[in-house]
Amino acid sequence: MGGKLLIVGFGPGSVDHMTKRAREAIEESDVIIGYKTYIELVRDLIVGKEIISTGMTEEVSRAQAAVKWAERGKTVAVISSGDAGLYGMAGLVYEVLIEKGWTKDSSIEVEVIPGISAIHSCAALLGAPIMHDACTISLSDHLTPWELIEKRLEAAAAADFVIALYNPKSGRRTRQIVEAQQILLRHRAPTTPVGLVKSAYRERQHMVLTDLAHMLDHEIGMLTTVIIGNSTTFVHDGVMITPRGYQRKYQLAAAVQPLKPHERLRKEAEPWALDQTKPLEDEDEGSTGAPGASGTSEAAVLAGDDQKDRAFTALATAVRPSSVATVTKEAEPTPPAAVLPTLAAPLAKTAERQPTAAPKRVKETAEDALAALERRKTRKTAAVLLEAAVSPGVANKQFTPEQLIVLAEVVGTDGKMTYTPDHYMKIERLTEDPDGLVARLVDAGLIVMPVGDVLTVKACDFCDGEKKDAIPYAEELARRFGGMALPKELKLGINGCGMACYGAVREDIGLVYRKGKFDLFLGGKTVGRNAHPGQLVAEGIPPEEIVAVMAEIIEQYQEQAHPNERFHKFFRRVKQVGRFSHEEAKPAASIETPACGE
Ligand code: SF4
Repeated sequence: MGGKLLIVGFGPGSVDHMTKRAREAIEESDVIIGYKTYIELVRDLIVGKEIISTGMTEEVSRAQAAVKWAERGKTVAVISSGDAGLYGMAGLVYEVLIEKGWTKDSSIEVEVIPGISAIHSCAALLGAPIMHDACTISLSDHLTPWELIEKRLEAAAAADFVIALYNPKSGRRTRQIVEAQQILLRHRAPTTPVGLVKSAYRERQHMVLTDLAHMLDHEIGMLTTVIIGNSTTFVHDGVMITPRGYQRKYQLAAAVQPLKPHERLRKEAEPWALDQTKPLEDEDEGSTGAPGASGTSEAAVLAGDDQKDRAFTALATAVRPSSVATVTKEAEPTPPAAVLPTLAAPLAKTAERQPTAAPKRVKETAEDALAALERRKTRKTAAVLLEAAVSPGVANKQFTPEQLIVLAEVVGTDGKMTYTPDHYMKIERLTEDPDGLVARLVDAGLIVMPVGDVLTVKACDFCDGEKKDAIPYAEELARRFGGMALPKELKLGINGCGMACYGAVREDIGLVYRKGKFDLFLGGKTVGRNAHPGQLVAEGIPPEEIVAVMAEIIEQYQEQAHPNERFHKFFRRVKQVGRFSHEEAKPAASIETPACGE
């Protein structure tokens, strides 16, 4: 007797959003098989059952195990978050079964139980961004060639789909989301609304509403779904909405509609539609009628400048790091102008020259996009000054020979490379391809950060990894805050033990990991004859709280400091930073700070 395979999508993760059938399927199963994290999410439902949990990339062994248990006559639930049939386990289980000669008449019964996928849960949190034609594209190139993903991005962008990007980024796959943004910017306005949703309906849910030009300024990771609006998507009061097209025929505030029901499907009311081959009186206009993104009538102009300009209020103000600084060097004799704050800035400038996005016929949108692509190919590119901080790692201070070769090639014979006291190599180089150079460095496993008035994380080397306990926190802090644009440069020092031999206590903000917790120093001054340690404001901060504590301090400094005001002066002026109060140090002998070199 064969058993039963229940392939269950349990939705975003909260019990409230799991279907009744998904819950029943888990309850009626003898064996539960899933990725470790998913098992934890349904832990309460699976007490007393045989549980097989494996790590990421173990999907094939999970599917094989599921089939084996079913062959022994058991009822087996293979669980996936979201929907089992969308980047979940359903297809793989079928493929493993087919390898074994399974058909529908075989003794093993299979049921796929649908769940709410991320595109739907994230869209619901953002408002209504997928009211019109939408697609999902996974940026993971572990199983799909990147070339193919690029083609899909290009096609979806040109065809004006709302796009949900799954698997946008991981610790190792950092370039894909940058490439995706560049492809999209060739087809869409930089102001196109973008929603970033992390861990929808889970404990650490986090949302940011931004736009295409600035999406990379925010945290994007493994658990983030990126929803990119189409040419009509707009934001109203923090809600992202893609119109279905009702305003082409209806006046939404009117009690009496200008078109009577029988007039709405006439040719003159929808000149954009294909000619009808038979009367459409019975057609449900709401589900099959107006071809949403098409039509150019007056009423269709929903997302003009006005609406787009008042858009993009961050739902949750995420920490917003700036990117690698580039200075545009336009035609001579104009000297290098202002420092552009983001890596996307040259792209944004390009896109700004394109006409403001307004609803168009899909065909026109695609043709425009192709024309824009051609223009980009033929346009003379401008050289920009790439300035960046490059390091081999937050804790790791050792460059490999291969990395040094890449670094040398990127800097070239005309560029400049300087080792700084902040534990990084500063590179400067005029280039027409800053993104490509940054990508080369990142591909070589190097960390690339902006320079200037940004936050720099200065960690010790944790005794070459022997005192490794604090490394994950240092890396998380670097990931969250490293490169964040601030009123003045800010150094966050992190040392792995009470020796504090890398001088964290003298940095603007110093963290010393001791006895499994952090001691916090604020307002140190590293250089000058009046250099001094920061004030010890707290001892024993639990590691799990450290990111939140840092966020309070750094965000307050970002918002309230005067331009060019150093952190120690800011702390003394405002008296209270986060939950920590400033205490005046005993007056030292007055020492005048000389200008550099005196
Ligand atoms: S601060 Fe402590 S952990 Fe870090 S390098 Fe010095 S001795 Fe090692």
